[in-house]
Amino acid sequence: MKAAIIDGKKIAETIRGELAEEIEDLKSKRNIIPGLAVVLVGENPASQVYVRMKNKACHDIGIYSEQQTYPADVSEEELLNKVKELNADDKIHGILVQLPLPKHINEFKVINTILPEKDVDGFHPVNIGKLMIGEDCFKPCTPYGVHKLLIHSGVDLNGSHVVVVGRSNIVGKPVANMLLQKEKDANATVTVCHSRTRDLPAVTRQADVLIAAIGRPEMITADMVKEGAVVIDVGVNRVDDPSSEKGYKLVGDVKFDEVAEKCRAITPVPGGVGPMTITMLLYNTVQSAKKKAGITG
Ligand code: NDP
Repeated sequence: MKAAIIDGKKIAETIRGELAEEIEDLKSKRNIIPGLAVVLVGENPASQVYVRMKNKACHDIGIYSEQQTYPADVSEEELLNKVKELNADDKIHGILVQLPLPKHINEFKVINTILPEKDVDGFHPVNIGKLMIGEDCFKPCTPYGVHKLLIHSGVDLNGSHVVVVGRSNIVGKPVANMLLQKEKDANATVTVCHSRTRDLPAVTRQADVLIAAIGRPEMITADMVKEGAVVIDVGVNRVDDPSSEKGYKLVGDVKFDEVAEKCRAITPVPGGVGPMTITMLLYNTVQSAKKKAGITG
């Protein structure tokens, strides 16, 4: 393999280590304990796993966390009341409502009810708007994690052509916005592709940095990648694997083995973007606690 592996696990550990020190400082010098509330509705197994991982990650670095669990038939009103209660709770600096929510609940309304200054997931329209115009805000965790991975790996984004495949509100659009900003560690020329893009390979082959956030197993093949590009694979897809105990394995949106022969650096799946997502949630929660106390930097 020619490419360097961008080790998301290692970079995430480094950031978590720095955060743990910062939290220790906040506790000992200011008596501040950052707090996160996670709201889980229903019994979606993937959501349950994510929420467990988030609580554990908080616990491991000294963030107070609490979980509010509701049955799938909880009313929208009850959920909104809980969010309002958490908005007013001084020990909670971040509120995260695990998505997706059951069909009878309006996700947009729930997200809109979270105070923007506690929206550590970065999904509130106020934060999304601020991100777009380059104002200080909470940035959504997965795209923020992608940006941090690129920075920590020393990738020069200035003037580079970044091609993002995927235009979702949680990954594609925000990552494009972040890398486009007129600021240090950004300033990229960004192209966003989607399922209606004509001749996708012709566009992806122009990328100095290719970000795949598609949700299609191993769709990006070597012929779609420029020699020497940096490839970030956000995709997490389960595919059948009778040889494994679980009967499946996780693969990304990129055909790793063949693309790694051609590109300069690449993220693996798992162990690339995944570990960064929760790390940026922790980061945002600490930032929120600091902002509330008027601490800058
Ligand atoms: P969405 O399904 O919301 O968006 C997928 C995007 O890919 C859409 O914009 C879609 O286009 C585009 N697309 C689909 N098929 C094609 C195609 N054949 N050619 C070009 N574009 C295509 O997914 P998400 O953004 O939520 O997630 C993307 C992937 O990232 C998933 O695998 C998901 O599991 C993973 N993920 C990983 C996270 C992590 O922490 N590692 C966190 C979040 C997501 P169109 O808009 O036209 O439909």
